[in-house]
Amino acid sequence: MSVRTKVIAGNWKLNKDVHQTEELLTGLKISLTFDLKGVRVIVCPPFTSLETANRCTKGSVMSLGAQNMYHEDEGAFTGEISPKMLKSVGCEYVILGHSERRQIFGETDELINKKVKKAIASGLVPIVCVGETLDQREKNVTSQIVTTQVRGVLKDISAEQVQKIIVAYEPVWAIGTGRNATPQQAEEVHLLIRTLLAELYTPAAAGDVIIQYGGSVKPDNAAELLWQPNVDGALVGGACLKADSFSAIIKAAVR
Ligand code: PEP
Repeated sequence: MSVRTKVIAGNWKLNKDVHQTEELLTGLKISLTFDLKGVRVIVCPPFTSLETANRCTKGSVMSLGAQNMYHEDEGAFTGEISPKMLKSVGCEYVILGHSERRQIFGETDELINKKVKKAIASGLVPIVCVGETLDQREKNVTSQIVTTQVRGVLKDISAEQVQKIIVAYEPVWAIGTGRNATPQQAEEVHLLIRTLLAELYTPAAAGDVIIQYGGSVKPDNAAELLWQPNVDGALVGGACLKADSFSAIIKAAVR
């Protein structure tokens, strides 16, 4: 059985200007002086803070990610950002298909799939989000919804490529609500995703894919969520905006 690294990523969403970015990253550098034992830490500030974040995280344990990108390198796409641009400011990761992008900006599995392919081709690691709404959970269609999303966003992705992506299971009802999935609910869906990946690819490839949980992860619930057998890390929203809470979550991922 493969031993997967834990990956903790902070999704800053639409928060922090450049000054606040510098402040938070300085705080994180001070907090993250313990032995991370291989735990990977990623910060995903807004586009306008990426250059500052690149400077501030150089030589630190933190890697840089963006919260979205377009699937073209350049051209007449007003308001969009390309993978090439993200790489030029030091990004190694990019969150794709976050539920807020799906719900507020109408992103579909088809569009997200184009972005995933482009990110991989550009040398960025996509953190691809899937997850059901409250209504879907209550109607007992969580597994169908998550299966359709995973199949859709991974269409035409090879076994070799799939090992380069991170999947984030984020139940929409748990995002920003303070109501996290129980460790059992999270594990159940993570196992479903890993089993599906084994079917779509190979058990070995599926065993290597990092599957993060996201949805109201806080310092006091992180450990029990993070140590479920198929939970390989967390995508953190609200609690990543303060150095002490984000570093406490990272600490919970360190054995
Ligand atoms: C998120 O935005 O991906 C997220 C999980 O947010 P929160 O931790 O605030 O629920």
